[in-house]
Amino acid sequence: MAKEDYEVVIGLEVHAELSTKTKIFCSCPTEFGGEPNTHCCPICMAMPGALPVLNEKVIEYAIKAGLATNCEISRDSKNDRKNYFYPDLPKSYQISQFDKPLCERGFVEIDTEEGKKKIRLTRIHIEEDAGKLNHDDYGRGSLVDLNRAGVPLIEIVSEPDIRSVEETDKYLKKLKSILEYIEVSDCKMQEGSLRADVNVSVRKFGQVEYGTRTEMKNMNSFKSITRAIEYEIERQIDVVENGGKIEQETLRWDEVSGKTFPMRDKEEAQDYRYFPDPDLVAIKLSEEYIENIKNNLPELPESRKERYLTEYKLTEKEARNLTASKYLSDFFEKSVDICKKPKAVCNWMLSDIARILNEKELESDEIPFVPEQLAELIELIEKGTISSKIAKDVLEKMFENPESPKKIIEDNGWVQISDEGAIKEIVLRIIEANPQSVQDFKSGREKALGFLVGQAMKETKGKANPQMLNAMFKENLK
Ligand code: ADP
Ligand code: MG
Ligand code: ZN
Repeated sequence: MAKEDYEVVIGLEVHAELSTKTKIFCSCPTEFGGEPNTHCCPICMAMPGALPVLNEKVIEYAIKAGLATNCEISRDSKNDRKNYFYPDLPKSYQISQFDKPLCERGFVEIDTEEGKKKIRLTRIHIEEDAGKLNHDDYGRGSLVDLNRAGVPLIEIVSEPDIRSVEETDKYLKKLKSILEYIEVSDCKMQEGSLRADVNVSVRKFGQVEYGTRTEMKNMNSFKSITRAIEYEIERQIDVVENGGKIEQETLRWDEVSGKTFPMRDKEEAQDYRYFPDPDLVAIKLSEEYIENIKNNLPELPESRKERYLTEYKLTEKEARNLTASKYLSDFFEKSVDICKKPKAVCNWMLSDIARILNEKELESDEIPFVPEQLAELIELIEKGTISSKIAKDVLEKMFENPESPKKIIEDNGWVQISDEGAIKEIVLRIIEANPQSVQDFKSGREKALGFLVGQAMKETKGKANPQMLNAMFKENLK
Protein backbone atom coordinates (compact mmCIF):
# COMPACT_ATOMS: atom_id res chain seq x y z
CA MET A 1 0.00 0.00 0.00
CA ALA A 2 1.05 3.57 -0.55
CA LYS A 3 1.08 6.71 1.51
CA GLU A 4 -2.11 7.87 -0.23
CA ASP A 5 -4.02 4.96 1.29
CA TYR A 6 -3.62 6.37 4.77
CA GLU A 7 -5.71 8.98 6.48
CA VAL A 8 -4.05 11.21 9.05
CA VAL A 9 -5.83 12.00 12.33
CA ILE A 10 -4.64 14.85 14.53
CA GLY A 11 -5.79 16.26 17.87
CA LEU A 12 -4.16 19.18 19.65
CA GLU A 13 -3.78 20.24 23.24
CA VAL A 14 -2.88 23.92 23.05
CA HIS A 15 -1.52 25.77 26.06
CA ALA A 16 -1.91 29.52 26.05
CA GLU A 17 -0.37 31.64 28.76
CA LEU A 18 -2.91 34.20 29.94
CA SER A 19 -1.86 37.83 29.98
CA THR A 20 -3.18 38.62 33.44
CA LYS A 21 -0.93 40.97 35.39
CA THR A 22 -0.49 38.53 38.26
CA LYS A 23 -0.15 34.79 38.65
CA ILE A 24 -3.04 32.39 39.08
CA PHE A 25 -2.82 31.82 42.86
CA CYS A 26 -0.61 34.66 44.15
CA SER A 27 0.13 38.29 43.35
CA CYS A 28 3.54 37.77 41.70
CA PRO A 29 3.94 39.35 38.25
CA THR A 30 3.52 37.16 35.17
CA GLU A 31 5.93 39.28 33.12
CA PHE A 32 8.23 37.27 30.84
CA GLY A 33 11.94 37.12 31.67
CA GLY A 34 13.54 38.78 34.69
CA GLU A 35 16.43 37.49 36.79
CA PRO A 36 15.76 33.89 37.83
CA ASN A 37 13.53 33.51 40.89
CA THR A 38 12.68 37.20 41.23
CA HIS A 39 8.98 36.87 40.34
CA CYS A 40 8.28 34.48 43.19
CA CYS A 41 6.74 34.30 46.65
CA PRO A 42 6.10 31.56 49.24
CA ILE A 43 2.94 30.50 47.37
CA CYS A 44 4.41 29.91 43.92
CA MET A 45 7.58 28.49 45.49
CA ALA A 46 5.43 26.04 47.46
CA MET A 47 6.58 26.87 50.96
CA PRO A 48 4.80 24.72 53.56
CA GLY A 49 1.61 26.33 54.77
CA ALA A 50 1.25 28.81 51.91
CA LEU A 51 -2.31 28.92 50.61
CA PRO A 52 -3.45 29.66 47.04
CA VAL A 53 -6.18 32.18 46.22
CA LEU A 54 -7.67 31.98 42.73
CA ASN A 55 -7.16 35.09 40.59
CA GLU A 56 -10.60 36.08 39.30
CA LYS A 57 -9.16 37.49 36.08
CA VAL A 58 -8.09 33.97 35.13
CA ILE A 59 -11.71 32.84 35.23
CA GLU A 60 -12.79 35.84 33.19
CA TYR A 61 -10.12 35.29 30.52
CA ALA A 62 -10.83 31.58 30.27
CA ILE A 63 -14.56 32.24 29.87
CA LYS A 64 -13.79 34.81 27.17
CA ALA A 65 -11.79 32.16 25.33
CA GLY A 66 -14.61 29.67 25.79
CA LEU A 67 -17.27 32.04 24.48
CA ALA A 68 -15.12 33.06 21.51
CA THR A 69 -14.76 29.38 20.58
CA ASN A 70 -18.45 28.52 20.95
CA CYS A 71 -18.08 26.53 24.15
CA GLU A 72 -20.64 25.87 26.83
CA ILE A 73 -19.56 27.53 30.06
CA SER A 74 -19.90 25.45 33.23
CA ARG A 75 -21.76 27.14 36.05
CA ASP A 76 -20.12 24.75 38.44
CA SER A 77 -16.42 24.03 38.15
CA LYS A 78 -13.44 23.24 40.39
CA ASN A 79 -9.67 22.93 40.66
CA ASP A 80 -7.92 19.58 40.97
CA ARG A 81 -4.43 18.50 41.82
CA LYS A 82 -2.53 16.62 39.15
CA ASN A 83 0.22 14.78 40.98
CA TYR A 84 3.62 14.05 39.52
CA PHE A 85 7.20 14.60 40.47
CA TYR A 86 9.49 16.81 38.46
CA PRO A 87 12.08 19.36 39.63
CA ASP A 88 10.32 22.27 37.90
CA LEU A 89 7.16 21.61 39.92
CA PRO A 90 7.85 22.61 43.53
CA LYS A 91 4.56 21.39 45.01
CA SER A 92 4.90 18.04 43.23
CA TYR A 93 1.41 18.61 41.92
CA GLN A 94 0.03 21.00 39.36
CA ILE A 95 -3.25 22.71 40.09
CA SER A 96 -5.37 22.03 37.03
CA GLN A 97 -8.93 20.92 36.29
CA PHE A 98 -9.93 17.30 35.85
CA ASP A 99 -13.59 16.36 35.50
CA LYS A 100 -15.20 19.78 35.68
CA PRO A 101 -13.44 22.10 33.22
CA LEU A 102 -14.66 25.68 32.85
CA CYS A 103 -15.60 25.29 29.19
CA GLU A 104 -16.75 22.32 27.13
CA ARG A 105 -18.01 21.34 23.67
CA GLY A 106 -16.95 24.24 21.47
CA PHE A 107 -15.61 24.54 17.96
CA VAL A 108 -13.28 26.61 15.81
CA GLU A 109 -14.05 27.06 12.14
CA ILE A 110 -11.34 26.89 9.49
CA ASP A 111 -11.47 27.56 5.74
CA THR A 112 -10.53 24.54 3.65
CA GLU A 113 -10.65 23.93 -0.09
CA GLU A 114 -13.93 22.10 0.41
CA GLY A 115 -15.39 25.02 2.36
CA LYS A 116 -15.70 25.73 6.05
CA LYS A 117 -14.83 22.98 8.51
CA LYS A 118 -15.56 22.84 12.21
CA ILE A 119 -12.83 21.53 14.48
CA ARG A 120 -14.60 20.55 17.67
CA LEU A 121 -13.16 21.42 21.05
CA THR A 122 -13.51 18.93 23.86
CA ARG A 123 -12.77 21.40 26.60
CA ILE A 124 -10.88 24.43 27.85
CA HIS A 125 -9.57 24.32 31.38
CA ILE A 126 -7.39 26.55 33.55
CA GLU A 127 -4.15 25.48 35.17
CA GLU A 128 -0.83 26.79 36.42
CA ASP A 129 2.44 26.70 34.52
CA ALA A 130 5.52 24.98 35.94
CA GLY A 131 8.96 26.53 36.41
CA LYS A 132 11.86 26.25 34.02
CA LEU A 133 14.99 24.15 34.22
CA ASN A 134 18.17 25.73 32.94
CA HIS A 135 20.61 22.99 32.12
CA ASP A 136 24.17 24.11 32.38
CA ASP A 137 26.51 23.39 29.52
CA TYR A 138 29.13 21.63 31.61
CA GLY A 139 27.09 18.71 32.87
CA ARG A 140 27.22 19.93 36.45
CA GLY A 141 23.46 19.97 36.80
CA SER A 142 20.35 22.05 36.28
CA LEU A 143 19.18 25.27 37.87
CA VAL A 144 15.52 25.85 38.62
CA ASP A 145 13.88 29.17 37.77
CA LEU A 146 10.42 29.54 39.29
CA ASN A 147 9.49 32.86 37.64
CA ARG A 148 7.08 31.02 35.38
CA ALA A 149 5.68 28.74 38.10
CA GLY A 150 2.07 29.73 38.72
CA VAL A 151 1.63 31.74 35.54
CA PRO A 152 -1.97 31.05 34.43
CA LEU A 153 -2.60 28.88 31.40
CA ILE A 154 -5.62 27.70 29.54
CA GLU A 155 -5.43 24.32 27.88
CA ILE A 156 -7.58 24.01 24.78
CA VAL A 157 -8.18 20.40 23.80
CA SER A 158 -9.49 19.60 20.33
CA GLU A 159 -11.31 16.48 19.25
CA PRO A 160 -9.35 14.35 16.75
CA ASP A 161 -11.04 16.18 13.85
CA ILE A 162 -7.98 17.47 12.01
CA ARG A 163 -7.01 15.50 8.91
CA SER A 164 -3.83 17.06 7.53
CA VAL A 165 -0.79 19.22 8.18
CA GLU A 166 -2.50 22.11 6.39
CA GLU A 167 -5.58 21.86 8.59
CA THR A 168 -3.37 21.80 11.68
CA ASP A 169 -1.70 24.99 10.55
CA LYS A 170 -5.02 26.68 9.81
CA TYR A 171 -6.54 25.58 13.09
CA LEU A 172 -3.61 26.86 15.12
CA LYS A 173 -3.48 30.16 13.28
CA LYS A 174 -7.22 30.65 13.72
CA LEU A 175 -7.03 29.83 17.40
CA LYS A 176 -4.07 32.17 17.85
CA SER A 177 -5.90 34.96 16.09
CA ILE A 178 -9.04 34.48 18.22
CA LEU A 179 -6.98 34.61 21.43
CA GLU A 180 -5.25 37.76 20.22
CA TYR A 181 -8.52 39.45 19.34
CA ILE A 182 -10.03 38.82 22.75
CA GLU A 183 -6.73 39.91 24.32
CA VAL A 184 -6.38 37.06 26.77
CA SER A 185 -2.92 35.96 25.63
CA ASP A 186 -0.10 37.61 23.74
CA CYS A 187 0.41 34.27 21.97
CA LYS A 188 4.14 34.85 21.54
CA MET A 189 5.23 31.41 20.43
CA GLN A 190 8.93 32.28 20.67
CA GLU A 191 8.40 33.08 24.37
CA GLY A 192 6.38 29.92 24.90
CA SER A 193 3.10 31.80 25.50
CA LEU A 194 1.47 29.50 22.97
CA ARG A 195 2.55 25.90 22.66
CA ALA A 196 0.92 22.71 21.57
CA ASP A 197 1.01 19.01 22.30
CA VAL A 198 0.42 17.38 18.96
CA ASN A 199 -1.28 13.96 18.82
CA VAL A 200 -0.92 12.10 15.54
CA SER A 201 -2.19 8.79 14.25
CA VAL A 202 -2.78 7.18 10.87
CA ARG A 203 -5.36 4.68 9.64
CA LYS A 204 -6.25 3.19 6.30
CA PHE A 205 -9.06 5.03 4.54
CA GLY A 206 -12.30 3.26 5.33
CA GLN A 207 -11.10 1.99 8.70
CA VAL A 208 -13.58 3.04 11.39
CA GLU A 209 -11.49 3.00 14.54
CA TYR A 210 -8.61 5.39 15.02
CA GLY A 211 -5.04 4.21 14.85
CA THR A 212 -2.79 4.38 17.92
CA ARG A 213 -1.54 7.91 18.48
CA THR A 214 1.77 9.34 19.50
CA GLU A 215 2.11 12.69 21.19
CA MET A 216 4.74 15.36 20.58
CA LYS A 217 4.99 17.70 23.55
CA ASN A 218 5.52 21.43 23.83
CA MET A 219 5.84 22.43 20.20
CA ASN A 220 6.19 26.17 19.83
CA SER A 221 6.63 27.15 16.22
CA PHE A 222 4.37 26.66 13.21
CA LYS A 223 7.33 25.55 11.15
CA SER A 224 8.47 22.81 13.50
CA ILE A 225 4.90 21.61 14.05
CA THR A 226 4.55 21.14 10.29
CA ARG A 227 7.90 19.39 9.98
CA ALA A 228 7.28 17.19 13.02
CA ILE A 229 3.85 16.03 11.83
CA GLU A 230 5.17 15.33 8.34
CA TYR A 231 7.98 13.27 9.78
CA GLU A 232 5.71 11.43 12.21
CA ILE A 233 3.17 10.53 9.50
CA GLU A 234 5.93 9.03 7.35
CA ARG A 235 7.38 7.15 10.28
CA GLN A 236 4.04 5.71 11.38
CA ILE A 237 3.07 4.60 7.87
CA ASP A 238 6.47 3.02 7.54
CA VAL A 239 6.04 1.06 10.76
CA VAL A 240 2.56 -0.14 9.78
CA GLU A 241 3.59 -1.00 6.23
CA ASN A 242 6.40 -3.15 7.58
CA GLY A 243 4.03 -5.11 9.75
CA GLY A 244 4.93 -3.29 12.97
CA LYS A 245 2.72 -1.72 15.61
CA ILE A 246 2.63 1.92 16.73
CA GLU A 247 3.38 2.33 20.41
CA GLN A 248 1.28 4.89 22.24
CA GLU A 249 4.06 7.09 23.54
CA THR A 250 5.27 10.60 24.10
CA LEU A 251 7.83 11.82 21.64
CA ARG A 252 10.29 14.64 21.55
CA TRP A 253 10.81 16.47 18.27
CA ASP A 254 14.44 17.21 17.56
CA GLU A 255 14.77 20.29 15.39
CA VAL A 256 18.36 19.57 14.33
CA SER A 257 18.02 15.99 13.13
CA GLY A 258 14.43 16.52 12.00
CA LYS A 259 13.31 13.36 13.80
CA THR A 260 11.14 12.35 16.74
CA PHE A 261 12.50 10.38 19.70
CA PRO A 262 10.71 8.61 22.56
CA MET A 263 10.77 10.62 25.81
CA ARG A 264 11.56 8.70 28.94
CA ASP A 265 10.69 11.07 31.72
CA LYS A 266 7.76 12.37 33.75
CA GLU A 267 5.35 11.69 30.90
CA GLU A 268 5.82 7.97 31.41
CA ALA A 269 4.15 8.18 34.79
CA GLN A 270 0.57 8.16 33.56
CA ASP A 271 -1.28 7.92 36.87
CA TYR A 272 -1.72 11.47 38.06
CA ARG A 273 -3.99 10.58 41.00
CA TYR A 274 -6.20 13.60 40.38
CA PHE A 275 -8.23 14.83 43.33
CA PRO A 276 -10.00 18.10 44.20
CA ASP A 277 -7.68 20.70 45.69
CA PRO A 278 -8.80 21.07 49.30
CA ASP A 279 -7.22 24.54 49.57
CA LEU A 280 -9.51 26.02 46.93
CA VAL A 281 -13.25 26.51 46.92
CA ALA A 282 -15.55 25.37 44.10
CA ILE A 283 -16.02 27.82 41.24
CA LYS A 284 -19.69 28.81 41.04
CA LEU A 285 -20.65 31.24 38.31
CA SER A 286 -23.84 33.24 38.02
CA GLU A 287 -25.74 33.78 34.78
CA GLU A 288 -25.21 37.54 35.03
CA TYR A 289 -21.47 37.10 35.39
CA ILE A 290 -21.23 35.01 32.21
CA GLU A 291 -23.75 37.17 30.37
CA ASN A 292 -21.74 40.26 31.20
CA ILE A 293 -18.55 38.78 29.74
CA LYS A 294 -20.47 37.69 26.65
CA ASN A 295 -21.85 41.19 26.11
CA ASN A 296 -18.41 42.73 26.37
CA LEU A 297 -16.62 40.33 24.06
CA PRO A 298 -14.61 42.29 21.48
CA GLU A 299 -15.02 41.94 17.74
CA LEU A 300 -13.78 38.53 16.53
CA PRO A 301 -11.78 37.89 13.33
CA GLU A 302 -14.79 36.54 11.43
CA SER A 303 -17.01 39.57 12.02
CA ARG A 304 -14.17 41.97 11.42
CA LYS A 305 -13.61 40.28 8.09
CA GLU A 306 -17.27 40.75 7.17
CA ARG A 307 -17.09 44.40 8.16
CA TYR A 308 -14.08 44.96 5.87
CA LEU A 309 -16.08 43.75 2.88
CA THR A 310 -18.69 46.45 3.31
CA GLU A 311 -16.87 49.24 5.11
CA TYR A 312 -13.67 49.18 3.03
CA LYS A 313 -14.90 47.33 -0.07
CA LEU A 314 -12.08 44.82 0.14
CA THR A 315 -12.29 41.43 -1.52
CA GLU A 316 -13.00 38.32 0.55
CA LYS A 317 -9.38 37.22 0.25
CA GLU A 318 -7.93 40.63 1.18
CA ALA A 319 -10.25 40.90 4.17
CA ARG A 320 -9.38 37.40 5.33
CA ASN A 321 -5.63 37.93 5.02
CA LEU A 322 -5.68 41.26 6.83
CA THR A 323 -7.90 40.16 9.69
CA ALA A 324 -6.01 36.92 10.30
CA SER A 325 -3.63 38.91 12.47
CA LYS A 326 -5.09 41.38 14.94
CA TYR A 327 -1.87 43.35 14.83
CA LEU A 328 -1.97 43.69 11.03
CA SER A 329 -5.60 44.61 10.95
CA ASP A 330 -5.28 47.19 13.73
CA PHE A 331 -2.31 48.59 11.80
CA PHE A 332 -4.44 48.70 8.65
CA GLU A 333 -7.29 50.55 10.34
CA LYS A 334 -5.03 53.16 11.94
CA SER A 335 -3.34 53.82 8.65
CA VAL A 336 -6.65 54.10 6.77
CA ASP A 337 -7.99 56.50 9.41
CA ILE A 338 -5.25 58.92 8.41
CA CYS A 339 -4.91 58.58 4.64
CA LYS A 340 -8.46 57.38 3.84
CA LYS A 341 -7.17 55.01 1.18
CA PRO A 342 -8.21 51.50 2.24
CA LYS A 343 -7.37 49.82 -1.06
CA ALA A 344 -3.89 51.33 -1.18
CA VAL A 345 -3.11 50.52 2.45
CA CYS A 346 -4.36 46.99 1.93
CA ASN A 347 -2.23 46.53 -1.19
CA TRP A 348 0.91 47.78 0.49
CA MET A 349 0.35 45.60 3.52
CA LEU A 350 -0.48 42.39 1.69
CA SER A 351 2.10 42.70 -1.06
CA ASP A 352 5.28 44.63 -0.31
CA ILE A 353 5.14 44.69 3.48
CA ALA A 354 4.19 41.01 3.62
CA ARG A 355 7.00 40.16 1.20
CA ILE A 356 9.64 42.04 3.20
CA LEU A 357 8.43 40.52 6.50
CA ASN A 358 8.74 37.14 4.88
CA GLU A 359 12.23 37.83 3.53
CA LYS A 360 13.41 39.08 6.89
CA GLU A 361 11.65 36.21 8.70
CA LEU A 362 9.74 38.67 10.87
CA GLU A 363 6.33 38.11 12.43
CA SER A 364 3.56 40.51 11.42
CA ASP A 365 3.78 42.28 14.79
CA GLU A 366 7.43 43.08 14.15
CA ILE A 367 6.90 45.76 11.49
CA PRO A 368 9.50 48.30 12.61
CA PHE A 369 7.46 51.40 11.74
CA VAL A 370 4.06 52.73 12.79
CA PRO A 371 0.78 52.99 10.80
CA GLU A 372 1.22 56.78 10.55
CA GLN A 373 4.35 56.25 8.46
CA LEU A 374 2.61 53.98 5.98
CA ALA A 375 -0.19 56.54 5.69
CA GLU A 376 2.38 59.25 5.01
CA LEU A 377 4.04 57.16 2.32
CA ILE A 378 0.72 56.62 0.57
CA GLU A 379 -0.12 60.31 0.77
CA LEU A 380 3.22 61.16 -0.82
CA ILE A 381 2.38 58.91 -3.76
CA GLU A 382 -1.10 60.41 -4.05
CA LYS A 383 0.32 63.93 -4.09
CA GLY A 384 2.81 62.94 -6.78
CA THR A 385 5.86 63.68 -4.62
CA ILE A 386 7.16 60.21 -5.41
CA SER A 387 6.26 57.50 -7.88
CA SER A 388 5.02 54.17 -6.59
CA LYS A 389 8.24 52.64 -7.84
CA ILE A 390 10.34 54.93 -5.65
CA ALA A 391 7.88 54.30 -2.83
CA LYS A 392 8.98 50.67 -2.81
CA ASP A 393 12.57 51.79 -2.19
CA VAL A 394 11.37 54.11 0.57
CA LEU A 395 9.58 51.17 2.17
CA GLU A 396 12.74 49.06 2.10
CA LYS A 397 14.54 51.90 3.90
CA MET A 398 11.72 52.16 6.44
CA PHE A 399 12.38 48.53 7.36
CA GLU A 400 16.09 49.25 7.84
CA ASN A 401 15.72 52.50 9.71
CA PRO A 402 12.19 53.55 10.56
CA GLU A 403 12.40 57.26 9.77
CA SER A 404 9.63 59.33 8.28
CA PRO A 405 9.13 58.67 4.55
CA LYS A 406 9.53 62.42 3.91
CA LYS A 407 12.97 62.43 5.49
CA ILE A 408 14.05 59.29 3.62
CA ILE A 409 12.98 60.86 0.32
CA GLU A 410 14.82 64.11 1.04
CA ASP A 411 17.97 62.38 2.27
CA ASN A 412 18.13 60.26 -0.86
CA GLY A 413 17.09 62.97 -3.33
CA TRP A 414 14.15 60.88 -4.46
CA VAL A 415 11.60 63.60 -5.01
CA GLN A 416 9.71 62.95 -8.21
CA ILE A 417 10.44 65.17 -11.18
CA SER A 418 7.10 66.77 -12.00
CA ASP A 419 8.35 70.03 -13.42
CA GLU A 420 7.01 70.43 -16.92
CA GLY A 421 10.16 72.08 -18.27
CA ALA A 422 12.41 69.42 -16.84
CA ILE A 423 10.22 66.61 -18.17
CA LYS A 424 10.15 68.18 -21.61
CA GLU A 425 13.90 68.48 -21.70
CA ILE A 426 14.33 64.79 -20.88
CA VAL A 427 11.71 63.75 -23.44
CA LEU A 428 13.34 65.75 -26.23
CA ARG A 429 16.71 64.30 -25.39
CA ILE A 430 15.40 60.73 -25.48
CA ILE A 431 13.60 61.34 -28.78
CA GLU A 432 16.76 62.72 -30.29
CA ALA A 433 18.81 59.75 -29.14
CA ASN A 434 16.41 57.06 -30.34
CA PRO A 435 15.39 57.77 -33.95
CA GLN A 436 14.58 54.12 -34.67
CA SER A 437 12.03 53.89 -31.87
CA VAL A 438 10.52 57.18 -32.91
CA GLN A 439 10.17 55.81 -36.42
CA ASP A 440 8.57 52.62 -35.10
CA PHE A 441 6.08 54.55 -33.04
CA LYS A 442 5.10 56.74 -35.95
CA SER A 443 4.50 53.69 -38.10
CA GLY A 444 2.01 52.44 -35.55
CA ARG A 445 4.01 50.34 -33.11
CA GLU A 446 2.62 51.36 -29.73
CA LYS A 447 5.26 49.34 -27.90
CA ALA A 448 7.95 51.80 -28.95
CA LEU A 449 6.40 54.37 -26.63
CA GLY A 450 6.93 52.07 -23.68
CA PHE A 451 10.56 51.73 -24.62
CA LEU A 452 11.05 55.49 -24.82
CA VAL A 453 9.35 56.05 -21.45
CA GLY A 454 11.54 53.31 -20.05
CA GLN A 455 14.66 55.07 -21.33
CA ALA A 456 13.54 58.31 -19.68
CA MET A 457 12.89 56.48 -16.41
CA LYS A 458 16.29 54.87 -16.57
CA GLU A 459 17.98 58.18 -17.12
CA THR A 460 16.17 59.79 -14.18
CA LYS A 461 16.61 56.72 -11.95
CA GLY A 462 12.85 56.27 -11.77
CA LYS A 463 12.21 59.79 -10.54
CA ALA A 464 10.31 61.23 -13.52
CA ASN A 465 6.55 61.40 -13.15
CA PRO A 466 5.35 58.56 -15.41
CA GLN A 467 1.99 60.11 -16.34
CA MET A 468 3.68 63.35 -17.38
CA LEU A 469 6.32 61.46 -19.35
CA ASN A 470 3.68 59.56 -21.27
CA ALA A 471 1.74 62.65 -22.12
CA MET A 472 4.83 64.61 -23.07
CA PHE A 473 6.12 61.88 -25.37
CA LYS A 474 2.78 61.58 -27.14
CA GLU A 475 2.67 65.32 -27.65
CA ASN A 476 6.19 65.53 -29.05
CA LEU A 477 5.91 62.45 -31.25
CA LYS A 478 2.91 63.78 -33.18
P1 ADP B 1 -4.30 12.84 27.25
O1 ADP B 1 -4.88 13.97 28.03
O2 ADP B 1 -3.89 11.69 28.05
O3 ADP B 1 -3.18 13.29 26.37
P2 ADP B 1 -6.81 12.65 25.68
O4 ADP B 1 -7.61 11.41 25.45
O5 ADP B 1 -7.45 13.71 26.48
O6 ADP B 1 -5.40 12.21 26.29
O7 ADP B 1 -6.44 13.19 24.25
C1 ADP B 1 -5.59 14.23 24.05
C2 ADP B 1 -5.61 14.66 22.59
O8 ADP B 1 -5.34 13.56 21.73
C3 ADP B 1 -6.91 15.25 22.12
O9 ADP B 1 -6.63 16.45 21.46
C4 ADP B 1 -7.47 14.23 21.16
O10 ADP B 1 -8.18 14.82 20.10
C5 ADP B 1 -6.22 13.57 20.63
N1 ADP B 1 -6.42 12.19 20.19
C6 ADP B 1 -7.04 11.21 20.85
N2 ADP B 1 -7.00 10.06 20.13
C7 ADP B 1 -6.32 10.33 19.00
C8 ADP B 1 -5.92 9.56 17.86
N3 ADP B 1 -6.20 8.27 17.76
N4 ADP B 1 -5.23 10.17 16.88
C9 ADP B 1 -4.91 11.46 16.99
N5 ADP B 1 -5.25 12.24 18.03
C10 ADP B 1 -5.94 11.69 19.03
MG1 MG C 1 -1.96 14.82 26.25
ZN1 ZN D 1 4.02 34.04 43.89
